[in-house]
Amino acid sequence: MKNELIEYLTEQIQLLREGGQVFIKYGDLVPFESRGRAFVIDTRTRIKEDEPNISIIKPVGINERGYVLYVCPDCQRLHWVHKSNIQRDKPIMTGCCNKKSRSKRMYIDSNGKLVKVKRDKVYIEIN
Ligand SMILES: [Zn+2]
Repeated sequence: MKNELIEYLTEQIQLLREGGQVFIKYGDLVPFESRGRAFVIDTRTRIKEDEPNISIIKPVGINERGYVLYVCPDCQRLHWVHKSNIQRDKPIMTGCCNKKSRSKRMYIDSNGKLVKVKRDKVYIEIN
């Protein structure tokens, strides 16, 4: 699982290097495995100071067609978004894998209870 994710990531980064741009350096992304599923943490992701429920994300890279690859702080997976959908000072909805709950996210809390929370938007910072 984790190896597949690392393979996918390595492959994507290689493709980005060939035709686009890569914005990460070694150690920025930390892949991990939990309950048999693979995830990744982008250590550069920050919380916005005046809007604490919104994350500020730095892209992994951008390809030759203008698609930006980033690590989603909601699901800790990789998503693509076209740069034309990204504007400075305007947050976007994450392109989350769980399309059924586009505006809501579910998780099981420490008491084993299913919790639904509103999915927050993110800022993507392109230099
Ligand atoms: Zn996501």
